[in-house]
Amino acid sequence: MPRFYNTLTKKKEDFVPLVAGETTIYTCGPTVYNYAHIGNLRTYIFEDILVRTLRKHYKVTHVMNITDVGHLTSDCDTGEDKMEVSSKREGGISASELAKRYECKFFEDFNALNCMYPSFTPHATEHIREMIELIKILEKKGFTYKTSDGIYYDTSKFPSYGALAGKSHIEGLKAGSRIDFSGEKRHTSDFALWKFSPKDCKRQMEWPSPWGICFPGWHIECSAMSMKYLGDTLDIHCGGADHIAIHHTNEIAQSEAATGKPYVRMWIHGEFLILSSGKMSKSSGTFLTLDALRQKGYDPLDYRYLCLGAHYRTQLEFSFDSLDFAKNTLRNLKEKIALFKKQRDGVIKDARALENVKADFQACAEDDINTPKALSVLWDFIKSPAAAEDKLAFVKYADSFLGLSLMKEEAARGLPADAAALIAEREKARKNKDFITSDNLRAELEKMRIIVKDTPAGTEWSWK
Ligand SMILES: [Zn+2]
Repeated sequence: MPRFYNTLTKKKEDFVPLVAGETTIYTCGPTVYNYAHIGNLRTYIFEDILVRTLRKHYKVTHVMNITDVGHLTSDCDTGEDKMEVSSKREGGISASELAKRYECKFFEDFNALNCMYPSFTPHATEHIREMIELIKILEKKGFTYKTSDGIYYDTSKFPSYGALAGKSHIEGLKAGSRIDFSGEKRHTSDFALWKFSPKDCKRQMEWPSPWGICFPGWHIECSAMSMKYLGDTLDIHCGGADHIAIHHTNEIAQSEAATGKPYVRMWIHGEFLILSSGKMSKSSGTFLTLDALRQKGYDPLDYRYLCLGAHYRTQLEFSFDSLDFAKNTLRNLKEKIALFKKQRDGVIKDARALENVKADFQACAEDDINTPKALSVLWDFIKSPAAAEDKLAFVKYADSFLGLSLMKEEAARGLPADAAALIAEREKARKNKDFITSDNLRAELEKMRIIVKDTPAGTEWSWK
């Protein structure tokens, strides 16, 4: 039986779904106003391993939302809408075009990282009616009040408010209290369900509602969409650890106040990817995209391997040295697999040992998604004296959890244009017997991980 760490109870628990044989999972999706950074993508990778692990036992219904309105520049419901700010930044393209552009980009990354496509990917802008209905229920039950800029949730009416976050919630609130608000909020932790459109300017995205022309708050979106597709009580809800103190705390308050039922049975959160200088964030300008890694010659799956080498509940410090290490280890693994393919004979030699190692591997995945331990089980079997056929059968099984395309043949990578120019320059230098320049150019190419060899027929190159 799988066991996962539940942020709500702060301990590892046996996972038993509400309905036998099937399970429901909601993962907070991207706000599509900019590129996802690799820190965001780390969360989707851990969630993907979780989904793959659950699928070994249950029929999984997985929902990941697309936030295309209402996420303000501060998670505490202040500032401007991220979508509208970016639409101005990008030369005035419409907010809906902007959303399409970055959603497309997001799924390119999501696919390149071998994350499995969710069962549903609802958009906030297509669920305005459901959000209005939910707020009407909260209003009827006396959980809301009106200020000059919106309809707010009164957190003092929900006795267990903040239980998910515990201590860190207090810190989150202190941070929130430093941000100016109109002064009409009754408590620092109260949050907007709907925001009125400003009177002095016209928003691109706004809708009529019983409270006037409005747009939704970010938190209500996830409550409305998760419950629409998965029911009032979800088995699992995931997200990055930065969502615990405010976003997920508010989702619980809204959903449970409206339905009177427990909202989520198990909360699972992934830790941050950090840089030596601190957390990777878009607002500080310190963020790396998957494209930036590609441009430096890395495969997205090198990054996936790097993430799997750390437990999802520990912070992972990113460096290019560690990414190089992941890349080389993955390449080494694939070379061994290619060799086993040449040695295979189609007959499993020790079926019992194979079943045992598969069980060991699955036990690691089911022990709170312990991917570092699972990888060590994989490597131990790869290096063992087992037969090539048995090793390949195990690799195939392990990869159904890891999602590293381990059985795929390595596609030949072409020579990048800038490297081709350096090789041509180097050939010219060699003809002129300028060996210093030629050696310098060889060193330049090596930095790009390209090895050159001089043959009578000309220069040959290969990847390092
Ligand atoms: Zn969410």
